[in-house]
Amino acid sequence: MKPPALPVIDTDRCTGCGRCVAACPPHVLWLEAERPNGWGKKTAVLHDAVGCTGCAKCYAVCPFEVISMVRGEG
Ligand code: SF4
Ligand code: SF4
Repeated sequence: MKPPALPVIDTDRCTGCGRCVAACPPHVLWLEAERPNGWGKKTAVLHDAVGCTGCAKCYAVCPFEVISMVRGEG
């Protein structure tokens, strides 16, 4: 079943604090580094949109309000 909304992360403003990653029940968020081998700025990435339930826990927990829940089409 398609979730009603998916998180969209403003990677420019994401600090890489990891709170959303820890809060996500199905573990579909992770931190990704800008450059290979873990170098550079880390930001949260939704790596498995199909596994996301749309629960918005990531949105609720982000201290910097960089996550928006966006409704999909259809
Ligand atoms: S909406 Fe819920 S399931 Fe989807 S990424 Fe955020 S915390 Fe995880
Ligand atoms: S909680 Fe917010 S600032 Fe922290 S990693 Fe997630 S999106 Fe980025």
